[in-house]
Amino acid sequence: MEPVRVDTKNYKFNKEIPPAVTVPSGSLLTFVTKDCFGGQITKENETTALAGADFNWDVMNPTCGPVAVEGAKTGDVLKVEIWGIEVTGPGVLATGKGFGVCCDYFDKLVARVVDIKNNNVDFMPGVKIPIRPMIGVIGTAPAGDPINNGWPGDHGGNMDCNMIGEGATVYLPVLVDGGLLSIGDVHAIQGDGEICGTGAECPAEVTVKVELLKNFDFPTPFVENDCFHMPVASKKTLDEAVSQVVINGVDFLMKEYAMTRFDAAAFCSLAADVKICQVVDPLMTARIEIPKKLLKRLK
Ligand code: CA
Ligand code: ZN
Repeated sequence: MEPVRVDTKNYKFNKEIPPAVTVPSGSLLTFVTKDCFGGQITKENETTALAGADFNWDVMNPTCGPVAVEGAKTGDVLKVEIWGIEVTGPGVLATGKGFGVCCDYFDKLVARVVDIKNNNVDFMPGVKIPIRPMIGVIGTAPAGDPINNGWPGDHGGNMDCNMIGEGATVYLPVLVDGGLLSIGDVHAIQGDGEICGTGAECPAEVTVKVELLKNFDFPTPFVENDCFHMPVASKKTLDEAVSQVVINGVDFLMKEYAMTRFDAAAFCSLAADVKICQVVDPLMTARIEIPKKLLKRLK
């Protein structure tokens, strides 16, 4: 089956945007994404682009989509398996005044464009960083007002969770008919926290399989890979995000593995890691990594 290519660009998760394509459950899709700056920063203008009067901040974080899934109704869940992320251009990094956690430590905002060759970022002479491509923005349309692509939330969105890479599965809520899935903002690599405000921002081709689930009874957004179950949450503060992912993890263990509330919480305290996804977007995002290996005898 050839994936359906999706390259329509949008800047909001918005139920009013008509689907770029409507597909049956089980379809393969390839999202042809731009970098989070919409391709505006190049090697030629990297030192001056962000300060330039003609830099357009309104086209940040373009996503591809939305994709409607036939039969998706409010209360369902979209299961999105990430089959592949192909980086198709150089990486752009930026930091400085007003951007990232050390935004006051700089007097201006600058960018750098780095080549990505043989699965490494050519960071500087003598320093190569092996890439680990991930999706920064992945989500569904909210039931209420549109949400800018720069925001994370209960719909997913700009979670900047570096576990959302090839081989991972992302579960997202269906909040309006069709679900309206959009994907963008790929990073060739990004550390936990995304502390400077960017990863290695790059264009990409993201291939996923999307399935409609009628009885997924766990909190979303939820990420999974071979090793971990990972509830993800975005809140005003990191403290609140951490509390939420722990509660979601406890709920998950109680339902999926029939643990008591105490056992579930204590298991997380002993064996699960709470991690920061990002601390630079309008809400903070955390996840909990619950190891599958230790639980397999309970199944
Ligand atoms: Ca992002
Ligand atoms: Zn990004």
